[in-house]
Amino acid sequence: MPFDYAPAPESRSIVDIESNYGLFIGGSFTEPTSGEFFKTINPATEEVLSEVAEAGQADVDAAVAAARRAYDKTWSKMSGKDRAKYIFRIARLIQERSRELAVLETLDNGKPIRESRDVDLPLVAAHFFYHAGWADKLEFAGYGPDPKSLGVAAQVIPWNFPLLMLAWKVAPALACGNTVVLKPAETTPLTALAFADICQQAGLPPGVVNIITGAGETGRMLVEHPDVDKVAFTGSTEVGKAIQRAVAGTKKKLTLELGGKAANIVFDDAPIDQAIEGIVNGIYFNQGHVCCAGSRLLLQESIADEALASLKRRLTTLRLGDPLDKNTDIGAINSSMQLSKIEELTAAGEAEGAERWSPTCPIPDKGFWFPPTLFTNVTQAHRIAREEIFGPVLSVLTFRTPEEAVAKANNTPFGLSAGIWTEKGSRTLWMANQMRAGIVWANTFNRFDPASPFGGFKESGFGREGGVQGLGAYLNVEDPS
Ligand code: NDP
Repeated sequence: MPFDYAPAPESRSIVDIESNYGLFIGGSFTEPTSGEFFKTINPATEEVLSEVAEAGQADVDAAVAAARRAYDKTWSKMSGKDRAKYIFRIARLIQERSRELAVLETLDNGKPIRESRDVDLPLVAAHFFYHAGWADKLEFAGYGPDPKSLGVAAQVIPWNFPLLMLAWKVAPALACGNTVVLKPAETTPLTALAFADICQQAGLPPGVVNIITGAGETGRMLVEHPDVDKVAFTGSTEVGKAIQRAVAGTKKKLTLELGGKAANIVFDDAPIDQAIEGIVNGIYFNQGHVCCAGSRLLLQESIADEALASLKRRLTTLRLGDPLDKNTDIGAINSSMQLSKIEELTAAGEAEGAERWSPTCPIPDKGFWFPPTLFTNVTQAHRIAREEIFGPVLSVLTFRTPEEAVAKANNTPFGLSAGIWTEKGSRTLWMANQMRAGIVWANTFNRFDPASPFGGFKESGFGREGGVQGLGAYLNVEDPS
């Protein structure tokens, strides 16, 4: 008889959410000139958490001007050793406040507390520690004896890993001597605003980090601002293309981290139980709101039936529900808009002839939810095999030979990540060389480390974040990637 879990909710009393937030410009919170605010909600309950300022053109101008002043007067003149002290301080404050930040992330985003606490926050702190270490050693990074910063960085991030994407962008920018104006996603601004508070607490010179909230239009104004030297964007391929068009012909340096449709390839000699865990982690982690998610499962035909049966068994044990419960595996979908997109694409999957399967899974009455789902009888022409669903939905295909696996894995406009499951090292290396993907995992999936560069090929974007390679994106040098 299976044991039932008792509820194990994390307390939200550690988090103090203000009823409204201004814009963080020049080291303090200011009212938006438009006087307008928008609501941010908890996607698991639809409760309004706070009202957040909508930055207009005058606010974007003020934020870029504050970043420019801080760059000219303070940050670009400071030694790497002194910059490192501030970044280390930020890293330590993130560690000290990690429980509060994890709860806040879960409330605003809908992701399970188990993930924000054990994955997002440790990685956020690690990114700041890692880049603090580089700040006084840039001359040893392979970019020449005295690599120079770029200036003001405009950074626009998505809602799937709000604080982690902030860390990926802010930490290298500061370590390399740039100042920052960052716009978080409209649906998840709260941890970026808590980070503004951390910057104040760390005594970071005013204007080195500016956080402006708003919708896509605010992001557009920011990346198109003429006094910006560098644009870093993570989000959809569609918006990435618009940004690339806007930046073309300017002096701005650009990195784009866009969508994906990764293949997770399981050979018949793979350790099957381990592979099942990797498949689950690959697509159901963070409700599948992951650009590098293993959303296309490629099973070698001889083990397909056995692997599918094990996978379905495993999916029946996943627990969907209250993201603040420490036993929850699948949290809420981030917004009603994203839920509609998942529903539309999964309906298209069925209409095109694929077979949908989900475990029996009670869905809460309020909030935005989607059960873990897989599709069999999928062909490469189906929309669910080609388009990024960005939800807990797996498309299963089969192959017979390694060559067929390579052809199917690379048959996508994207090129962000891939997974290979096999016992043979030689096959792993051969396959990894064939993959048109920026990240290839072997016998694991969705593993991240600040020392390891992350980025894509083709419509998944260009430039790398993390590692020595990621530093090049924030220095006045040729990008090595
Ligand atoms: P977007 O690309 O629209 O959003 C990413 C960020 O860009 C947000 O901060 C957004 O602001 C901002 N933005 C929107 N329009 C512009 C613009 N013209 N100029 C500058 N910045 C802009 O992604 P969505 O959040 O709408 O998600 C749509 C789809 O994109 C998802 O369904 C998913 O498939 C994919 N996606 C991929 C991600 C990835 O990591 N690869 C991450 C997020 C989404 P705002 O939030 O206010 O709209």
